[in-house]
Amino acid sequence: MNSNLTVLLMTNKTNNKASSYFTNDETLGWVSYENSKKRFEYNKDLWVLQSTFRYGDKHTDNYRNKRKYYTNILINKFKKLTGIKIKKIYFTHIHGWKYSSNSKAINVKSYWDKKCGLGICADWFGGPRLENGWLSANDLYAKIIKM
Ligand SMILES: Cc1cc2nc3c(=O)[nH]c(=O)nc-3n(C[C@H](O)[C@H](O)[C@H](O)COP(=O)(O)OP(=O)(O)OC[C@H]3O[C@@H](n4cnc5c(N)ncnc54)[C@H](O)[C@@H]3O)c2cc1C
Repeated sequence: MNSNLTVLLMTNKTNNKASSYFTNDETLGWVSYENSKKRFEYNKDLWVLQSTFRYGDKHTDNYRNKRKYYTNILINKFKKLTGIKIKKIYFTHIHGWKYSSNSKAINVKSYWDKKCGLGICADWFGGPRLENGWLSANDLYAKIIKM
C-alpha cells in the first residue's frame, strides 16, 4: 500500500481554469480544484493537494509533529508549479494516509466464502481508483449469483 500526505486548502478566488493538475514533481503529485466539480457555488477557492506516493511513503509516519512544516511544503510547491496567485489563505488541514491506495493489483478481484456466505469487495483488490471498487463489487456479485 502507498501512503499519501494531503492538504485541504481554502484560498481567495483565483483566475484558475483547470480542474486538476498532475505534476512531474517529486513532492507534490496532484492538485484538485474542488470548485470545478460544481457541487456548490462558493466565493473562495477550495483545493486538495496530494503528495506523491514516494514522498508520502517517506514522511507520513512523522508528519503529526510537523503539520505546519509539511503543509507549507505542499502549498509552496503548489504555488511555484502552477504560478497561481494566492493572496490569502483562509484554511488548511493536513492529513496523512498511511494506507491510502494500492497501486499493485492482487490476483483476485474479490473474495467469496461460499460456506460462510461472506464476501469482500473493495478498490484495493485491483488498484487505487473508484472503478477498481466497482469492478471488485461486480466480480463478487458474479460469484454470488453463481451459487
Ligand atoms: C479524498 C479522496 C478523493 C478521491 N478521489 C478520487 C477520484 O477523483 N477518482 C477516483 O477514481 N477515485 C478517487 N478516490 C478513491 C475512491 O474514493 C475509492 O477508490 C473508492 O471509494 C473505493 O470504494 P470502496 O467501495 O472499495 O470503498 P469505500 O468507498 O471506502 O467504502 C467502504 C465503506 O465501508 C464503510 N465501512 C467501513 N468500516 C465499516 C464497518 N466496520 N461497518 C460498516 N461499514 C463500514 C465505510 O464507511 C464506507 O462507506 C478518492 C478517495 C478519497 C478518499
